[in-house]
Amino acid sequence: MGLISKGAKCSVTGCDNDGVRSLTASKVDGTGVGIPHGLKKAILCKEHYKEWKKATKGDRDTEKARFSRF
Ligand SMILES: [Zn+2]
Repeated sequence: MGLISKGAKCSVTGCDNDGVRSLTASKVDGTGVGIPHGLKKAILCKEHYKEWKKATKGDRDTEKARFSRF
């Protein structure tokens, strides 16, 4: 939240929009939303947040299955 209020830009490569959401980068990695590797937190603009949400919608069961192994 703090980063957003400072007017951080979207982390997606080539995107220069204002960020609206900050997410753990590992949650964004592998969803097709292109953030640079090595980030801890990813800032997403409205458009890319929408894209991320769409990309992760069908993944929820997969993630649950992964966590239940521990
Ligand atoms: Zn963006």
